Amino acid sequence: MRPQYILVRFGEVTLKGRNRTRFEQQLVKDMKRKLEAFPKSAIEHTFGRALIALNGEAYEGVSAALKRVFGIYSFSPVLRTDQQLENIREAALAVMKQYDPEPRTFKVTARRADKSYPHDSQKMNHLVGGYVLKNMPGLKVDVREPEVQLWVEIRPEGVFVYSQIEKGLKGFPAGSNGKGMLMLSGGIDSPVAGWLAMKRGLRVEAVHFHSYPYTSERAKQKVIDLARTLADYVDEVTLHLVPFTDIQVRLKQESNDNLLITLMRRIMFRITEKLAHANDAKAIVTGENLGQVASQTLSSLYAIEQVTTLPILRPLIMMEKEEIIRISEQIGTYETSILPYEDCCTVFLPKSPSTNPNMKVIRQLERSMDWLDDYIDQAIEAVETKVIRPQEQKLGEWERLF
Ligand code: ATP
Ligand code: MG
Repeated sequence: MRPQYILVRFGEVTLKGRNRTRFEQQLVKDMKRKLEAFPKSAIEHTFGRALIALNGEAYEGVSAALKRVFGIYSFSPVLRTDQQLENIREAALAVMKQYDPEPRTFKVTARRADKSYPHDSQKMNHLVGGYVLKNMPGLKVDVREPEVQLWVEIRPEGVFVYSQIEKGLKGFPAGSNGKGMLMLSGGIDSPVAGWLAMKRGLRVEAVHFHSYPYTSERAKQKVIDLARTLADYVDEVTLHLVPFTDIQVRLKQESNDNLLITLMRRIMFRITEKLAHANDAKAIVTGENLGQVASQTLSSLYAIEQVTTLPILRPLIMMEKEEIIRISEQIGTYETSILPYEDCCTVFLPKSPSTNPNMKVIRQLERSMDWLDDYIDQAIEAVETKVIRPQEQKLGEWERLF
């Protein structure tokens, strides 16, 4: 069977009373953008779902694209017929015949969304099921644990017959819940945190601190590649590259070694907050995880976040590392994250960072750093901003080949 259509079911958007229309429109827009790569396909949108006419485009390609759209609950390759019983029966048989080897058991589940249709669901189960059984002698009905479940949806606009339901990413459509700044390192955690935030409909602009020349161009490229992988789920990600070297070098000269990380991270949050205000973002997203390293003990998190009044969103805060790695593999950032390029923090990492930083000492130290505000302003002025789009990745790969 070559499916002619894909039936797409929307996710949580269906729960949002008043915002529903807006969410659905955004979702359809996101799907259309993804389907630009399949120019023959076309979307028809009805309330709570969409129908994609493949018009000859391969199901596999479109299906892979749909698996990168937030807000889709599930989708199915379907055959579409009119309401003539014999056409429905033929479609049902075609769906069942696609399996090789033939399944041993099946079950028909008819749904009559069009109540004017003459046969009720029970009757349709028999009319369709009976026909399939007659044409596939090896097949039996098993209503409890069928190998294949065959759905027949009777709607005013047509009848849809299918047996597969593929999971979508769920979540909310891109950018439907405001904007936040994602602190993006080259590690495993922060891209996952960013992806999870994006999945909840947060548009993210990424902020990366680099310590060139202590960190290499390749370390920077790694972050660009990570942003690109994220952009593949939402079309584009703006990335702000903040030069952090001068601040780090000066801090290293002046500060108490075991508070270095705390001070450094406080400065990162200050700069990120300023960038948030400048870009109309209302949150900071980080990949922090409770207890993972010295700067992520509760005392450290507390000491660090004092510098900002923005909500700090930490999608990974209570997750197991295993789980974080699993997500990073699924979303496609893992391979890039584990490339061995140094991060700005590891370069300046002190031997024994404090796990319980003293706020009084921190305040005193910072009061004595009369250079700090100027350095922060200079870093912000020197920020390099790039809009990262997924198709550039393809171009990049292509260019590298020649
Ligand atoms: P990650 O795997 O995301 O690097 P991590 O477990 O290595 O996290 P840290 O290095 O302590 O933890 O960083 C904690 C969080 O701080 C990161 O998840 C990220 O959000 C932010 N962060 C760290 N380094 C940078 C950087 N160079 N630029 C921007 N954000 C950073
Ligand atoms: Mg890190």
